[in-house]
Amino acid sequence: MGLDELYREVIIDHYRNPRHRAPLEQVDAHGEGNNPLCGDRIELDLALEGDDVVGISVRGQGCSISQASASMMSEAVVGKSRDEVAALADDFRRMMSSDDVIDEDRPGSVLGDLEALRGVRRFPVRIKCANLAWATLDQALTDDSSPATSE
Ligand code: ZN
Repeated sequence: MGLDELYREVIIDHYRNPRHRAPLEQVDAHGEGNNPLCGDRIELDLALEGDDVVGISVRGQGCSISQASASMMSEAVVGKSRDEVAALADDFRRMMSSDDVIDEDRPGSVLGDLEALRGVRRFPVRIKCANLAWATLDQALTDDSSPATSE
C-alpha cells in the first residue's frame, strides 16, 4: 500500500468513525468554528484540569477533511497541557503550510494520524478545511467569544 493510499484510509476511517463525539460531564471551555468556503462547522467542548486538557467532545458537519481533522485533533490533544497543545497546533500548521521538517523529538510534537493530512496542502482551498478544528480549539482555549474561522 502506498503512502497516499494509507493516508487516504486513515482520513476515511476518522471521517466515518469520528473519535470523541460523546458529550462531556464537565465542560470548562467551548469553541465554535465554521469555514464558509466549504460549509464546514465544528463545535467542541473541553474539560480542563489545571493546565491540562483532560477531555474533549467534538461535533461537526462538513467535508471529510474538516471532520477527519477534527477527529484526529481530538485524539492528539487529550492528556496534553496547554503548552503541548500549542506546540502541536504549531507543528500542524507548519506541516500544512510548508515543507519544514517537524522536530519529532520536541515534547508534544508527535503528529500521529494528523500526518495523514499532509497531502491536503497540495489543495490550498482544503487547507482551510483541515485547519478549522485547530482554529476552533484555539478559540476554546483563549475564551475568545467570536466564532472561529479558518482564515
Ligand atoms: Zn471542507
